[in-house]
Amino acid sequence: MTRPAAVLFDRDDTLVEDVPYNGDPEKVRPMPGAREALDMLRRRGLRLGVVSNQSGIGRGLLTEAEVRAVNARVDSLLGPFDAWACCPHAPEDGCGCRKPAPGLVVEAARLLGVRPEDCVVIGDIGSDMDAARAAGARGVLVPTARTLPEEVASAPHVCEDLLSAVRHVLRDDPRRPRATPPRAAPGPVADGRTADGDAPAADHSVGGHAPAAGRAVGGHAVGGPMADGHAAADGHAQAAGRTADGHVAAGRRTADGHAAAGGRPV
Ligand SMILES: [Mg+2]
Repeated sequence: MTRPAAVLFDRDDTLVEDVPYNGDPEKVRPMPGAREALDMLRRRGLRLGVVSNQSGIGRGLLTEAEVRAVNARVDSLLGPFDAWACCPHAPEDGCGCRKPAPGLVVEAARLLGVRPEDCVVIGDIGSDMDAARAAGARGVLVPTARTLPEEVASAPHVCEDLLSAVRHVLRDDPRRPRATPPRAAPGPVADGRTADGDAPAADHSVGGHAPAAGRAVGGHAVGGPMADGHAAADGHAQAAGRTADGHVAAGRRTADGHAAAGGRPV
């Protein structure tokens, strides 16, 4: 993969474990390898953003303040991120920012001062890939147990975890170390800035997530994302089967691709 200028991450079930309608910062748990993967990108100078559907706001299930608190916790554990773009709308609002629409990706790229086509979007469901595609960005899917088989099959690239995805993104990085430093034994040095684990990733190709300040959470007006905004936990449909957003609900996936309560497999 040609080295991108920025990597945009979905939030729930990509950067942090999905907790339906979570308004509690104490419930934020990073996904495996997230910290290491993000730091690897930062060391290489890539800019990082978060693009997140947060329809809980539009559904009246969470307050913006609650979401800001959760996002601040994500930032404290995994950040700082250079840009946040969140969609606060409910699916029926017909906005242009809710993934799979391209608005969040376009907005995050704008905030970062890069072109969407110079971005990679890493997410866990098909709508993340579709948003990337619609915006002209590249997509890398890191599935969870709730990712649908057809979403995996149609993804431009699939990696088994975040570290593999980041290694894939960095694979063609011209600054990538070409040789293993002469060391008696592998292991981290001082601040851990060694090989970065840039060895070819154990991923498998299928064909082919603000700056600390200024987290203005915009209004709920349809038509635009919350620039730098941190929105609420996503909508979680209660009915069984796929929802209007094409996501599975009822203990498996919810309206924004989130696990229903207790539904997250280990
Ligand atoms: Mg997700």
